[in-house]
Amino acid sequence: MKQNFAIVGLGRFGGSICRTLIESGQEVLAIDNNEDRVNEYMNIATHAVVANAQDEMTLRSLGIRNFDHVIVAIGEDIQASILVTLMVKEMGVPSVVAKAQNSYHARVLEKIGADRVVHPERDMGIRIAHNLVSKNILDYLELSDDFSLVEIRVANPKFFNKSLLELNFRQRFGLTVVAIRRSNGEVVVSPDANEFVRENDNLLVIGETDDVDVLDEKMN
Ligand code: ADP
Repeated sequence: MKQNFAIVGLGRFGGSICRTLIESGQEVLAIDNNEDRVNEYMNIATHAVVANAQDEMTLRSLGIRNFDHVIVAIGEDIQASILVTLMVKEMGVPSVVAKAQNSYHARVLEKIGADRVVHPERDMGIRIAHNLVSKNILDYLELSDDFSLVEIRVANPKFFNKSLLELNFRQRFGLTVVAIRRSNGEVVVSPDANEFVRENDNLLVIGETDDVDVLDEKMN
């Protein structure tokens, strides 16, 4: 279904959201107060305008309240990010995603009603660090304080050529395998208990972070 998006701030973060949305066929209004940035997106976004989003009248005249999603991708200027998030929420936009610079900023954005607060530098840092400390964890996504989704390489021969049932995966580790990525690139989504785990497979598992750590140790 086609939805419409407005992005405030066309830095690296807002810019990459804009390109990806357009590639997936969505309509995007791109807003930035920097004319050069707007020129860069003139032929990419559905519409691109030079505007100061901190000005309420400007936001109203752009019809911001009619958008399904607004992404507040303002970088350094925390005050502007907070003010714009507050205004678009007050105008009744149902889905507001805001980028936080630090954890205090994130808390304020959550308090004033941002539907989703993202912290790209911190989140990417966590993902990279987990990948660096474990030789088998290929990707790591923190879902909450306690839960994670990880992609882990099947490195221990004890796991080779056994079904998930034989491995007693859920009971033994308390984790759910949501997909198996085979070495030939094939992905088995939502594998059933009879699916076999093979050497060089990657497992996408979801569960409590403590349980993920136990599985990671068992892979060595
Ligand atoms: P990133 O880390 O994503 O590259 P930047 O700080 O480079 O972040 O980008 C943020 C963008 O937001 C800049 O292009 C800046 O011009 C824009 N911006 C900042 N304040 C406003 C505002 N009040 N109205 C519109 N755009 C803004």
